[in-house]
Amino acid sequence: MREKQLLGIIWKCNLCGFCPKDMECPGYDEDTRWESSFARGKVSIVHAIMQDPDLRFQNSELAKERLFSCTGCGHCEYICPSGVDVPSIIYLGKKKLVEADNYPEAHKKIVENIKNHGNPFGETQPRDASWPNLKGNVNADSIYYPGCMAIYRIPEIALHTLKLFEKLGENIKVLKNETCCSGILYRTGHNELLYDLTNSMLNEIRENIPKQIIFTCPGCLTAFKEIYKSELKEKFEDTKLLHFSEYLVDKISKLGDLKSKINELLKTTIKGPIIWHDPCHLARGLGIYNEPRAILDAIQLPYAEFNQTKEDSNCCGSGSGVRSAYPELAEKTTIQRLEEVKELGAHTILTACPFCEYQYKSVVEKNRYDINVIDLNNLLSELISLL
Ligand code: SF4
Ligand code: SF4
Repeated sequence: MREKQLLGIIWKCNLCGFCPKDMECPGYDEDTRWESSFARGKVSIVHAIMQDPDLRFQNSELAKERLFSCTGCGHCEYICPSGVDVPSIIYLGKKKLVEADNYPEAHKKIVENIKNHGNPFGETQPRDASWPNLKGNVNADSIYYPGCMAIYRIPEIALHTLKLFEKLGENIKVLKNETCCSGILYRTGHNELLYDLTNSMLNEIRENIPKQIIFTCPGCLTAFKEIYKSELKEKFEDTKLLHFSEYLVDKISKLGDLKSKINELLKTTIKGPIIWHDPCHLARGLGIYNEPRAILDAIQLPYAEFNQTKEDSNCCGSGSGVRSAYPELAEKTTIQRLEEVKELGAHTILTACPFCEYQYKSVVEKNRYDINVIDLNNLLSELISLL
């Protein structure tokens, strides 16, 4: 969205003031109850930054902390009675602070790593080290885009997904010029780097247009579907961009009689009860929450739901660079979710986002919760192994 349009929306927000209590914001400060810790206050900070001729707000530590502690979860936008796209306004504010060189140190490292190594972690091994043959699969017109998290931090997600593709007989390849989707750059205010850092990957797609690109990371899918469209005018008109759950939902029976193995799975590999976590980018951002549930119903997996679900689900706390810049805030939010899991009597969180999984796992480990976390594709692949 253009700055001018966003400024109009900011006025609408300033005149509203209807933010219910805390807007379900992970950044909400219960102690001070400062308005600047949730939606309208953050929007007012962006307004001040845009209208401020003497750069007082651009250089403010508080403005930096308030804007960069937004996970981009979108819960405020979902609740807002005026329909204000709060996350886009906050992304604009972050961009302004980046222009003033007033942004978290932790993000400087992420930016340098993506520039120098094509991933936010600074890893130097090739992206396809575990599946080198897929890069040369020139005949495939379906692409799997695993993304940095599944390549460098939770490789079992990608490996289990490849096993599912194989079982389905899908002829798949990965991009030769695959790099970080760079969604994190947009979400941390570094929009100006997007074009240069994704251009060779996007050119490869433009030169040989695939039938579909399938993602296991909702953040990467959002980058391709929404961020590239708004920032790079790239619409992928002839290519379907699908989360794996959307791709699989009509083909689940081709994986075999998985429901016959559910009891065995729950007695051996996975400790029930299981609870389903809707990732923000997947459920609220892209509206994909029926497909994973349809898959779970098809295999007759018993599972519990959080108190708030689907578009109203609560954030794991880690997105948009909050985990790296404000780890305590991210952890506090994750603990709220884990306490709810405990209250509801579940032992395994099942989800479909590597970032949520990684955050949950690290907070579980640090705080010694008796809770497991698993990706939907891992579960399906475990079931296949039992057939
Ligand atoms: S975020 Fe929505 S509800 Fe809150 S003040 Fe702005 S427009 Fe009103
Ligand atoms: S997007 Fe999420 S973290 Fe950011 S202000 Fe809205 S509710 Fe808070």
